[in-house]
Amino acid sequence: MVEEKIRLLLAKYPSIIYGFTSISYSAYASQYKSAFVFAVPYGEQLTIDNYTEERFERGIQAAKVIVEEILVQTEAILREQNVNYYIPPAAQNNEEELTAPFSFKYAAVNAGLGWIGKNDVVITEKYGPRVRLSAILIDSQFTYGPGIVKSNCPDSCNKCVAICPYHALHDVKWDIDTLRSDIIDYQLCNQKRSLYIEKYGRKHACGLCMAACPIGISSAVSPS
Ligand code: SF4
Ligand code: SF4
Repeated sequence: MVEEKIRLLLAKYPSIIYGFTSISYSAYASQYKSAFVFAVPYGEQLTIDNYTEERFERGIQAAKVIVEEILVQTEAILREQNVNYYIPPAAQNNEEELTAPFSFKYAAVNAGLGWIGKNDVVITEKYGPRVRLSAILIDSQFTYGPGIVKSNCPDSCNKCVAICPYHALHDVKWDIDTLRSDIIDYQLCNQKRSLYIEKYGRKHACGLCMAACPIGISSAVSPS
């Protein structure tokens, strides 16, 4: 019943990619059985030819508005159905380890939304990496996966690696056992983007390694 209602809600948002996964692997497993995880395309699907930091940031903000809409409506369903849930924070709350309490990326690959690219972000077939992820932990059973366990990046591609101005990416092709630190020097990426906090009032959005990705650019510019 809960799954049916969530699927009916998402039918109104055909551009959104979503799925469900067991979270038996997670620290939240004793409280919630599953995660509903979804990927909202950025407001603009930029390529390296039309990329600017400001446009990239605007696209993220537009996607965040849709994420909020989905969260509010899903919460209403879960409350109506009397099902326990928790919305984990999107951002890391620890600037040292730079990890979030619940990884949306790991949930997304387990739910089958995409794989992790050499740029350390989830790559969807439809939009490549140009999506905003979110998730809700739900104490209910769903139809899961199938999960994705290895990269579908073309063997010859390293466009994201080559474009990083700080050489933060290690040119490593992901599989389910790969650690984040194998793929990216996340401290370096974060440190460089944080240098802009004074100037912009936020970290630099730096989407270069996403804009450079050839996956999904057939849907570039605006999602349908
Ligand atoms: S976000 Fe920017 S700094 Fe970070 S890895 Fe990608 S290109 Fe490099
Ligand atoms: S640019 Fe190439 S290597 Fe990097 S994530 Fe996209 S497909 Fe994978």
